[in-house]
Order: sequence, then C-alpha cells, then structure tokens
Amino acid sequence: MSYEVLAIRYATRDTWTRDIYANPWVYDEPDRPARMDYFFWLLRGGGRIVLVDTGFTPEVGAARARTTLCPPPRALARLGVEPADVDTVVITHAHYDHTGNAGIFPRAQIVISDRELAFWTGPYGGRQQFAHSAERADLGTLRRLDDAGRVTRMSGRHQVAPGIELIEVGGHTPGQLIALVDGEAGPVLLASDAVHYYDELDLDRPFAVFADLAGMYAGFDTVRDLAAASGAAVVAGHDPAVLTRFTPWDTADPGFAVRVG
Ligand SMILES: [Zn+2]
Repeated sequence: MSYEVLAIRYATRDTWTRDIYANPWVYDEPDRPARMDYFFWLLRGGGRIVLVDTGFTPEVGAARARTTLCPPPRALARLGVEPADVDTVVITHAHYDHTGNAGIFPRAQIVISDRELAFWTGPYGGRQQFAHSAERADLGTLRRLDDAGRVTRMSGRHQVAPGIELIEVGGHTPGQLIALVDGEAGPVLLASDAVHYYDELDLDRPFAVFADLAGMYAGFDTVRDLAAASGAAVVAGHDPAVLTRFTPWDTADPGFAVRVG
C-alpha cells in the first residue's frame, strides 16, 4: 500500500542559530539568523487518511510569538480533508507545536508512544524546563481521548497501517516517534523532531531542546540507518529546506505544502 504524503507548513518564525543548536558555544561559530518552519504531515491512500501531528492553534502560536500562516484545520480543508475524514492521528511527541487541534477529529484513533504519554502525565513533565514545551490543555485533551479508549499506546515499532510504520527513537522527548512511509513517489522517513534541520544530520549537531542527549545522537544514527536501508527521503521536522527539496503541492503557492512521497 502506498500513500500520497504531504508536508504542510502551517507556521513560521525568525530566530537565530544560538536558539537552534544545543550548547552552540561548542562550535565556535558566529550566531546567524535562521528561520524555523512548522509542519504537519498528511498521508492518504487506499481509502485511508492519516495525519502525523496536528500543529498548534493561532492563539497558542501568538502566545509564543510564532506566526501562523494557515491553521491546520483550514489547511486540511484546502486539501479537501474534513476532520471527520481522518482515520488516524499519530502524535510524534507531545510538544505544543505537534498536539494542538488533536481533539477535533471525531472518528480518529490517536497513536502515541506509551513512554511519551506516561512522561507528560508523570513526575517530570510538569517541571518548568519540560513543561515550557507543552500545552497543558493539549495534554488534557490527550488524557481525555485516552480515557475514551481512543488512544493506542505503542512502543518500539508499530505498524499503523500497511506501508506506515512508526519507530520510537526518543532523544528530543522520551518517546519521540519517526514514521517510515511507503510513498507513491518513493519511501519517505518523516523524522519530525528527531531531526528539526538537515544540518543536525549533516553536521551531527543535536537540537537545543532534548530529554536525552545521547538518545538524540542515537536517533540521528537510526534515521541515517533507516534511510540508507530503505532508500527513503528524510523529511526534517522544521527545516525551510523541505519546501525546496520537494515538489510544491500548489505551484502558485509553493510555501503552503510539498509532496514528499
Ligand atoms: Zn516541533
């Protein structure tokens, strides 16, 4: 089974490399301006619609000085997808920019790492250095969906559907997931925040925010190994280069979405 795979850019912000890499003084380089884009991913094929992450709402983005370009529900409408059409929502990790809107899909089963969900409801998820990266309301939504039996907790590797496999890598968060997808245009590895920027892989530089630094390096190795073994194109989680490495979904608006698989 293969899928049309889209990376949809819903928000952006201007930042600096000092805010991107962990302990940037290690590299002895000048600070440089950088852009961070925010994506979620849509898979459709065989009568199935799977979302990978759900972005944030404009209100949550504004409170964190992020510029929302197209709220995810509107982006989905533009792509011909209504909330009730979505069968499965994968939450790659529970940071605020991946969990907003998770409650608007009335039929969807949510898939998340068991370790991830346990972490955010456990003794450390509420401590400030971690809590800063999550939205309490979104965590409450995930908890409510879990209570309603609509959350599948996985660990290790998990097949969502034929041609869609999740791999738990940790590092950035305790249960960070990546997704290996049989794309119509070839296999793709949706790295989400296991790889925010391609430079992280190319220069072996961990991102600034992590739960486990060694785990983040191990995640890079897993991404490299999986990409080499499968021939998959790696799709970084926040890199503007995604928009130029892949084909625009709408050539009149190349910044909206690209077809990655
Ligand atoms: Zn993110």
